[in-house]
Amino acid sequence: MGIPIFQYIQFSFISKIEYYGRAVNIDRHDRADSRDQRIPETVGRRALFVGSDVYRQAAFGEHHPLSIIRVSGVVDLCEILGWFEPGQFRDSPCASVEQLTRFHAPDYVDAIREADASGLVEADVRKRYRIGTMENPLFPGLFRRASTAVGGSIHAAELAMAGHLVFHPSGGTHHGRRDRASGFCYFNDPVFALLTFLEHGLERVLYVDLDAHHGDGVQDAFAQDDRVLTISIHEEKRWPHSGLVEDRAQGAARNLPVPRGFNDSELDFLVEEAVLPLARAFEPEALVITCGADALEGDPLSRLCLSNVGLWRAVERLVAEQPRAVVLGGGGYNPWTVIRGWAGLWGRLAGHGIPESLPPAAQALLGGLRCDLVDDEDVPASWMTTLADVPNRGEVRPEVRRLPPLVLDGPLPRRIAC
Ligand SMILES: [Zn+2]
Repeated sequence: MGIPIFQYIQFSFISKIEYYGRAVNIDRHDRADSRDQRIPETVGRRALFVGSDVYRQAAFGEHHPLSIIRVSGVVDLCEILGWFEPGQFRDSPCASVEQLTRFHAPDYVDAIREADASGLVEADVRKRYRIGTMENPLFPGLFRRASTAVGGSIHAAELAMAGHLVFHPSGGTHHGRRDRASGFCYFNDPVFALLTFLEHGLERVLYVDLDAHHGDGVQDAFAQDDRVLTISIHEEKRWPHSGLVEDRAQGAARNLPVPRGFNDSELDFLVEEAVLPLARAFEPEALVITCGADALEGDPLSRLCLSNVGLWRAVERLVAEQPRAVVLGGGGYNPWTVIRGWAGLWGRLAGHGIPESLPPAAQALLGGLRCDLVDDEDVPASWMTTLADVPNRGEVRPEVRRLPPLVLDGPLPRRIAC
C-alpha cells in the first residue's frame, strides 16, 4: 500500500487531520501465453468476487492518495462489461471485534473504534497507535471500512476452502501491525486470510506479495509461525525500506527487491525462477496473493513499470498451481491503472475475454476519473478506451537475474526439520 505522505507529498494537507473533517490490445504473444498457461487446475473452480458498497463512501480525506475511486470503479466497470454472473458477487461481512482481536491488540481495536465514534484522536492515542495522522487519517466510517476489509478476507478464505477462486480487491492492507496503523493500513486483512486457512487446519500456506512496497506487516506477523512462507517482490530503496534480499525472518520469508523500471519480462523471470520453485518446495495447501496495482507503470508513488497484462499473467501462473487461492488488492494510486488493472484481472480469473476496446459506458466511467497525483498530460487516451496495456517486455537486467540463487537456498518453514 502506502508510504509516509511527507516523502512524496506535492500538495498541501489539511491541518486538522485529527478531526473528521500506452494501451493497445494484447499482442499475439501474450494472448497465446494467457491461453497456454490458463489454469487447467482451476477448471471447475468458480471465481467469486468479494466486495462491499462501504467502499463507495468517501474516505481518507480529500487530499489523501487513497481518496481516489478504486474498488467501486472496478465493480462498476465489471458490471458494464457484464462480468458478474448471478451469485458471483459476494457481499463482504464486517469482521467482529472478536475476530479482529485474533490478530490485533484489543486496546488498538478499541482505540480505532472510539476515535471513529468520537471523531477525535487524542495526542497520546495518535502517538501510540499512529492513527489520526496524515498517513493514517481518521475519517467517518473508518472502523466499519477497515473491519469490512478484514471480514472480506476471512470470507474470501472460507470461500476458497469451499473450492472457489476468490478475488477481494479491497483487501491487501499489508502494512497494518498488531497494535498500530502503518502505510495507510489500519488492520491487516491479508493476515486474516492466512489465519483463516490455518484455522481450517491447513498446515502450509503461502503468501505472495506483488505490491510495489514490501509486505512487512504480513511477514512480521508470521515470522515465528512455521506454517506460513511469505514471498515479497517489491521496489528496492523504497518505504518501508525493509525486505532486503538477506531478510528471511528466520527462514519464514523470502524477499526479492527489484530496481526501478521493473518490466514484464523481469516479473516473468522471477515468477518462473524463484517464486514457483519456492512454492513447489514448500508445497502449500493454500495461497494468498496481495496484488497491489502500484507496481504498474503510471503509478505516482512508485517507479516500477509493469503492464497490467504482465501482472495478470503472474497471478494466473501462481493460482494455477494451488488448489485454494485468494487474490487481494493492495496499493495503487492512479485510478486509471488501478481500475483497468483489477477489472481486467477479475475478467481473466473469471474466464472472460479482454475486449480490444471498451464500450461507451466504460469509456465514460474512466473519462470521469480525477487524480491530483497524476498530471493531465500523463494520462494517455488509451487509459479511457482500452483495458489491456501494451506488454512491457524488455531485458532481464543483471540485478534481477542475480536474485533467484540468493533466495532458493536454505530451509523453508515446515521443512526445517527435514
Ligand atoms: Zn504499495
